[in-house]
Amino acid sequence: MQCPYCGQEMEKGLIQSPQEISWIKSEKRTLFGRAEFYDGAVVLSKLSVMKGSAVVSHLCRDCQKVIIDFFDGNSDLNQS
Ligand SMILES: [Zn+2]
Repeated sequence: MQCPYCGQEMEKGLIQSPQEISWIKSEKRTLFGRAEFYDGAVVLSKLSVMKGSAVVSHLCRDCQKVIIDFFDGNSDLNQS
């Protein structure tokens, strides 16, 4: 994947967590981070009790950006 900011090739890697990884529409940290409690939330990686969660992401060190493509669910290592 090319960085949309600078055009350089991005490094493919993972973001991992022992909890669900989700995006919620909030600028404040919340007590309950799970997506099911929030309208419009996006689950980036479902929680596996045995494995935790992991989502494929792309990093640009120069721009200090990380991109996660969740469109087709293939980024979530717990999806399949
Ligand atoms: Zn960049």
